[in-house]
Amino acid sequence: MKYYILFGPPGAGKGTHAAAVVRDYNLKHLSTGELLRAEIAAGTELGKKAKALIEAGALVPDEVVEGMIESAFKNTKGVDGFLLDGFPRTLAQAEALDAMLAKNGEELSGVVSIMIPDELIRVRIKKRANEEGRADDASDDTINNRIRTYHNQTEPLIDYYRKAGKYHEVAGDDPVLEVNRARVLALMQELS
Ligand code: ADP
Repeated sequence: MKYYILFGPPGAGKGTHAAAVVRDYNLKHLSTGELLRAEIAAGTELGKKAKALIEAGALVPDEVVEGMIESAFKNTKGVDGFLLDGFPRTLAQAEALDAMLAKNGEELSGVVSIMIPDELIRVRIKKRANEEGRADDASDDTINNRIRTYHNQTEPLIDYYRKAGKYHEVAGDDPVLEVNRARVLALMQELS
């Protein structure tokens, strides 16, 4: 099985480009953000706990998202691999992922990182707030916290995966969506 991580700050275009990647490579798209929003919509206990954290721009606990990913790995059939979107977001999650894969004799196939500068994060998230109506996209405070959370907790993963020889980066800053998507797909082709 192939295990790819789609990495990048909020608003980099991970969710947007994931669709084309999973279609071309017969992968299952696993977005922890989407899985959490589904729990919130369904009104589960987990969803109730996650809601406040997400709307504050903080992360939900590592164990919660690790459990979601592990059960998705177990319960997904008929694909050639997985595209992880929004996971891992902390060093602890990255280590947990390595352990999950190693337990089954598997390893990470590569990290596809989409980079944009902080100013563009704000512009993209504002645009998305109008289109998708996500509560965590609406307020400046939440957006600022998410940017801070990204730099403090998630950005260190770049070094972690560089050291492992798994890190690959493209720029996601072109104003034309298809240009950014073509960069992501070209990198996937190199990795596969
Ligand atoms: P974006 O890429 O725009 O930040 P996501 O849909 O990936 O949006 O995530 C939305 C929110 O869900 C995050 O800000 C965080 O609160 C929570 N979340 C998603 N993935 C994780 C994760 N791996 N660990 C902890 N919290 C997560």
